[in-house]
Amino acid sequence: MSFPTVEQFASDNYSGVCPEALDYMLKANEGSAPAYGDDIWTQKAADYFRELFEIDCEVFFVFNGTAANSLSLASLCQSYHSVICHEIAHIETDECGAPEFASNGSKLLLGKGPNGKLTADSIETIVQKRNDIHYPKPKVISLTQATEVGTLYTIDELQAIRAVADRHNLRIHMDGARFANAIAAMNVRPAEITWKCGIDVLCFCGTKNGMAVGEAILFFDKALAEDFAYRCKQAGQLASKMRFIAAPWVGLLETGAWLSNAQHANDCAAYLEQQLAKIPGVELLFPREVNGVFVQIPEAAIAALREKGWLFYTFIGTEGVRFMCSWASTQERIDRLVEDLQQVMRLVESP
Ligand SMILES: *Cc1c(COP(=O)(O)O)cnc(C)c1O
Repeated sequence: MSFPTVEQFASDNYSGVCPEALDYMLKANEGSAPAYGDDIWTQKAADYFRELFEIDCEVFFVFNGTAANSLSLASLCQSYHSVICHEIAHIETDECGAPEFASNGSKLLLGKGPNGKLTADSIETIVQKRNDIHYPKPKVISLTQATEVGTLYTIDELQAIRAVADRHNLRIHMDGARFANAIAAMNVRPAEITWKCGIDVLCFCGTKNGMAVGEAILFFDKALAEDFAYRCKQAGQLASKMRFIAAPWVGLLETGAWLSNAQHANDCAAYLEQQLAKIPGVELLFPREVNGVFVQIPEAAIAALREKGWLFYTFIGTEGVRFMCSWASTQERIDRLVEDLQQVMRLVESP
């Protein structure tokens, strides 16, 4: 049996499983192995992360990003604490209140900043706003790298935020749904934009990078990981056949596919951006830095594109259109999208 595939630039999680992840999944399928993460694949995946990040960190594997973010934030907070994040952060707009739920009520405090990035000043303003007993005490800053609108925190920006965190005794959580894309774009070592900038915990997404399922949670401050395994288990996030989440990670990390997949997705988005720039009436909304291109196009053109069968999102962080590339994007598909958009724009602009 087979089903038709969809034409899409909707999300990197619409793409399939990359060959490296699938290959290692099959390798892990030989015979039996201990359950609940006591297997060699899980051990090996965690060791690869420690090697990649050049630090002896605590590593956990869960099913998805919402769980990774919510559970790791909960481990940094008491219920009366608060988490400062950007107003368009995924934890605010797309996790159905899971961070508050997992932490028994830690409130999200929303900050602002251009291009989807919290600024050190906006964090400072939120922290200074109140310090009385009636307001939830700020405890964590959550940053998304790359951001929801495909931009990047520079090392300087991260260090400025770290200085605010140090002044006010705040922890820093990083939502790394597209962390690999950030590394590919910035050409830095993972350590340089995480623990060396004071990041305490990173949620590193495997799904969008080419796995079927799975996120890694890295605690750079190992003390924060105390009892975290129990938190995962209680939340239904301890996979009994853990090796099938861990083995694809081994595949990505051992072969370097985690980085080449991200680089490919970024390159595709750069090419798409270049092509879109040639179409009159299409306006870039944010600097294109990783694998997403955000543009403003007329409503009628959006409808006409959908009519042609293209799938994409129009609600992420902005009223514009998001075209997201992945490890599986091809130039051929980009060219077809651009051709269709050119055509519908001509109709819309001069009906
Ligand atoms: C995709 C994504 C996540 C994770 O989403 P899940 O659907 O829960 O896996 C988290 N943060 C950001 C910024 C994302 O884009």
